[in-house]
Amino acid sequence: DLVLTPAACYHIYPLVATRGRIPATGLLFDVACDCFRHEPSQNVDRLQSFRMREYVCLGSPQQASDFRDGWIKRGQEIADRLGLKHSIAPASDPFFGRAAKLMADSQIEQALKFELLVAVRSHEQPTACMSFNCHRDHFGTKWKLRDKAGDVIHTACAAFGMDRLALAIFAAHGTDIRSWPQSVREALLI
Ligand code: AMP
Ligand code: ZN
Repeated sequence: DLVLTPAACYHIYPLVATRGRIPATGLLFDVACDCFRHEPSQNVDRLQSFRMREYVCLGSPQQASDFRDGWIKRGQEIADRLGLKHSIAPASDPFFGRAAKLMADSQIEQALKFELLVAVRSHEQPTACMSFNCHRDHFGTKWKLRDKAGDVIHTACAAFGMDRLALAIFAAHGTDIRSWPQSVREALLI
């Protein structure tokens, strides 16, 4: 059981599993929670406790993959509206143990994870402020999630690190909110 959760979407899958088959239209969730990771780092953008907002899709392989691709585009549009210079890069999750490098390589090869990077601490080591993930049948198999035809469903999520986005905005526009570009203040409704 997860006591301190590392991601917001993890709780959705067992919950959905208690509700029977997934409809052909798929399911969409909007969730947020405090997340916890044992991160041995002094960097200001690598917290042990941080806020994550996620949009999550459960559906066919096509639905999950379209959802992920659509959110990469929307994530870039959001970053543009916030006046953040950004780039999209393939990424992998931190895996542990002997098979770690293999797992990470295969995740990149299969293009399952992309991150939206912004220069927060430095340009050389930009910070991942959003991530766009396709889990394929990983959670569907683990939690026995099936559609009406009995096929294992696929899942995808778009994750926003709220603390990192706040840092990115301060790094880009300074700490005096009154001097921020009007378009950024309007986008944030401040
Ligand atoms: P991940 O599941 O690692 O892709 O994390 C999703 C999002 O949460 C990332 O894109 C970051 O914006 C944010 N995040 C991940 N780890 C941390 C951390 N240690 N401190 C602050 N934000 C984080
Ligand atoms: Zn997720």
